[in-house]
Amino acid sequence: MDYRQFFVNAIDRLQSENRYRVFAQIERAAGRFPAAIWHADGEAREITVWCSNDYLGMGQHPDVVAAMTETARTCGVGAGGTRNISGTSRAVVDLETELADLHGKDAALVFTSGYVSNEAGIATLAKLLPDCLLLSDAFNHNSMIEGIRRSGCDKVVFRHNDLAHLEELLRGVDPARPKLILFESVYSMDGDIAPIAGICDLARRYGAMTYLDEVHAVGMYGPRGGGIAERERVMDRVDVIEGTLAKAFGVMGGYVAGSRDIVDAIRGYAPGFIFTTALPPPVAAAAAASVRHLKHSGAERRGQARQVARTKAALDGAGLPVLAGSTHIVPVMIGDASLCKAASDRLLERHGIYIQPINYPTVPRGTERLRITPTPLHTDAHIAALTDALVEVWAALGLSRAVFAQAAE
Ligand SMILES: *Cc1c(COP(=O)(O)O)cnc(C)c1O
Repeated sequence: MDYRQFFVNAIDRLQSENRYRVFAQIERAAGRFPAAIWHADGEAREITVWCSNDYLGMGQHPDVVAAMTETARTCGVGAGGTRNISGTSRAVVDLETELADLHGKDAALVFTSGYVSNEAGIATLAKLLPDCLLLSDAFNHNSMIEGIRRSGCDKVVFRHNDLAHLEELLRGVDPARPKLILFESVYSMDGDIAPIAGICDLARRYGAMTYLDEVHAVGMYGPRGGGIAERERVMDRVDVIEGTLAKAFGVMGGYVAGSRDIVDAIRGYAPGFIFTTALPPPVAAAAAASVRHLKHSGAERRGQARQVARTKAALDGAGLPVLAGSTHIVPVMIGDASLCKAASDRLLERHGIYIQPINYPTVPRGTERLRITPTPLHTDAHIAALTDALVEVWAALGLSRAVFAQAAE
């Protein structure tokens, strides 16, 4: 058997489908975000990053950096073990207290990433409930889908953000059967928002539990950065809120928050929590500093909202195909994988602007796009340069200016 050839063929398939991923090598410059250095072909060039999930620039915030470096100095860098084997540091416990408070819940449990928190959290809850039926939004993130798969439970998919379809599905299920509704608040590729209150109404009517991924909202929405559920005053109606410490909070790690018993059950049963080394104290301390800062400071959120509005207005004004939405995510539609890659390459090479192409399977085929994430640290001059660069790229590549409809389901 020629094992090697199988891998070569697998890579060839990716290439022929325009799915082969090329990563730009970026060196972030603390204190100068969104500027970064791009390393390619032995050269280093200064660029502007327009696609970071460090949505508020908290990854370089002085309080956050200080928390990490000081904790590293006092506690060292590693966790020393799993949570059970000497890894339950004071820093992790403090972080969990901050997160429970952020979401108005009894308890929170920290994982090494948001991905792991979804995979382990969903699989564990669903497995504990006898014959649980999972109702999953069509656009849910891969980490939720993997959690569903791992649970081994039955799953039905409801059309994206479609309450009528969700209700139709719920109506057809035995009222006594345990049900868990899985959805996100801000969907990261289209930048649209789930009808959280409506989903909670249905959950109550049909006796279902709710699990909400607020990964793209925590830190950025709500008076204290508790997410869309906080902004819409429905946090107490959602059973489990999941979030990341790696996006707006700018660090690393993920978590679930909920009632004491639910969180305790996940703690006791989730392999992805039990059998892996805990978050290191410097990382936990930095994340806690970021969460704490954003609870008290609205300046980053206001700055982001302002620069997002200005970016959308500038791109719309230039006739670029911006997908309308009310969040910080600004998708500019292209609709073809190789053109999307070509546009991204040209932006980087000619204009020193980094926006990675978003292609299948991250988004459905035919809805390939550039996904722009303005931060409070992108200035009006950055926005003007971005607009000029996109106009040049659209003309040079003959790209369409039509905003086609949302993805097929
Ligand atoms: C990024 C992402 C995650 C995973 O979070 P990480 O902390 O990056 O592992 C989970 N859910 C959604 C919707 C995401 O976009």
